[in-house]
Amino acid sequence: MENKTLGIYLHIPFCLSKCGYCDFCSVAGSDKRTKNRYLSALSKNMTQISRQAEDYLVDSVFIGGGTPTVLPPQQLKKLIDDLYRAYFVVESAEFTVEANPATVSKKYAELLVASGVNRVSIGLQSADDGELRALGRIHSVKDFEESYHIFRSAGIENINVDLMYGIPGQTTESFLNTLKYAVSLGPEHISAYGLQLEPGTPFFEQKDTLALPDEDTEYSMYCYAEEYLQENGYEHYEISNYAKPGKRCRHNLKYWNCEPYLGFGASAHSDFGGWRYGYVADLKRYVDAVEAGGAGDRLCAERAVHTPSSFETDYVMLRLRLCDGIDKKIYEALFGRPFDSKYAERLRPFEAGGFVQNDETSCRLTTDGMYVSNTILSSILDF
Ligand code: SF4
Repeated sequence: MENKTLGIYLHIPFCLSKCGYCDFCSVAGSDKRTKNRYLSALSKNMTQISRQAEDYLVDSVFIGGGTPTVLPPQQLKKLIDDLYRAYFVVESAEFTVEANPATVSKKYAELLVASGVNRVSIGLQSADDGELRALGRIHSVKDFEESYHIFRSAGIENINVDLMYGIPGQTTESFLNTLKYAVSLGPEHISAYGLQLEPGTPFFEQKDTLALPDEDTEYSMYCYAEEYLQENGYEHYEISNYAKPGKRCRHNLKYWNCEPYLGFGASAHSDFGGWRYGYVADLKRYVDAVEAGGAGDRLCAERAVHTPSSFETDYVMLRLRLCDGIDKKIYEALFGRPFDSKYAERLRPFEAGGFVQNDETSCRLTTDGMYVSNTILSSILDF
């Protein structure tokens, strides 16, 4: 019998300082006791669930945040050891840790490699120090470059660099410089996200006074990323993600392919055993709930069982994020009816506008369609 595979996500909600645009579940300035309590709860939570995943081989691990590397190295190592004790992580697993520039020494990077980490995702965002300051980032481009080389010399052969467009004060020229700079270092993977103004963030409060690029400029930046990265050997494989051949992020592909994953930590989401659920996005509530037994509504902020129709909606929504789109044969095998019987008519206006390619064998969003994917998906899906 073939073993089932599983992805595991661990959320570390600590940062050195809070960036002005960030609505992730993360806090700055936590004391040692808070971190210790949180990490104990995280390990306990992993163990609480592990029996249910006994038949699974873990082939991807992602430790994200927050900034996992603000933890002392031995603390992160202990967490990884606890993970290995609770789950069967295969030797060939993709094992990613998110890191921010200026948080990692050579010794720290070597310890991560010795613990099985083989992929690192570093947040550069911009190659312009003024733009980094505008975002509230506390590192410089030089800090980023030093961290990048530290990871390379420690033996990390798979690096993602996060970039951002739509930054206050950013121009198409400065974004192109950022792209050129990132490509010149030769990472295996590049993510390029448009800045979002999320309610509850300082940027959202200041939205009328921020010098944001206008919509046309932001769209040009998206097109620049698409063209420049592809010209330089990066495949565009998801709305915001580009990879050298063979280097697509295995962990994130699990989300987009509707494959099982377990998330641990405040705000972490899971799709496992026929359920989708998300934990409370509050450190104290998360820790209290895990310490009290780790079950039920105290821990979960949202929980829904997969029905055939919700699974179908999720599948179409997530697969259309990928440039490969939907393979119609696979869709029909999964859902027992042709893709076009439900979607051909709904997609027609977007096809005519050049946003969707719907041919005999597959359906995918075009580059322009990816840019407005939320609009397309909300018009064609049954929510
Ligand atoms: S470093 Fe990342 S997670 Fe932390 S505040 Fe900034 S954007 Fe948010």
